[in-house]
Amino acid sequence: MTASNNSGLVNNLKKAGIFQSERVENAMKSVDRGKYVNYDPYRDSPQQIGYGATISAPHMHAHALENLAPFLQPGMKVLDVGCGSGYLTACLAEMVGPEGKVVGIDHIPQLVKLATDNVMNDRPELLESKRVIFVLGDGRKGYPEEAPYDCIHVGAAAEKMPQDLIDQLKSPGRIFIPVGSNSQYIYQIDKDNDGNVTKKSLMGVMYVPLTDAQKQLRG
Ligand code: SAH
Repeated sequence: MTASNNSGLVNNLKKAGIFQSERVENAMKSVDRGKYVNYDPYRDSPQQIGYGATISAPHMHAHALENLAPFLQPGMKVLDVGCGSGYLTACLAEMVGPEGKVVGIDHIPQLVKLATDNVMNDRPELLESKRVIFVLGDGRKGYPEEAPYDCIHVGAAAEKMPQDLIDQLKSPGRIFIPVGSNSQYIYQIDKDNDGNVTKKSLMGVMYVPLTDAQKQLRG
């Protein structure tokens, strides 16, 4: 089913029982997916955004935001690895509020520019206030300059659990990450108050790989 505008899209997700919290619903209402996707943005499906990248389906973004919600409280700090279109980065920023900060990282310069242009077009105040910054780099190494993070979202499938990301997580903190090559699962990685790390598999998924820039552009 496709809706004719962003609130229609969010209402369809609500009817499908995707949301557990009003905070996530409101965050997705405040970011217009139509400013991040050219074709059929209000349908609950993934779309190509060029350079071998795909914007995830809205229900996957909702699952990610719900899962990370305890670590997306006002004032918290977030790393969004593989920011692609910038859509989820803006939703994450909405959830952490004006005192929070979200770093979006991507390894393709054109996608860093796309994310920046999209957020500038949708929610310019997020960039102007530096609540959102976009940086170029290999997200498998995280972004130590702004670490530690309350939570880390990874938008591409890692072959193995990236230790650098775990190291850049606060205690407590959480990572939402797809892991695997042929069959992939979302893992929730938690670091508790004492720094103990636990991993839990949540659901089977299909994401583009977390890889080398040259490999991704070759396709
Ligand atoms: N969250 C994004 C997902 C985009 S697809 C969205 O919904 O729009 C996955 C993204 O991960 C792509 O933009 C791709 O360029 C990026 N990516 C893949 N490997 C990466 C790496 N090693 N470092 C940083 N970004 C990477």
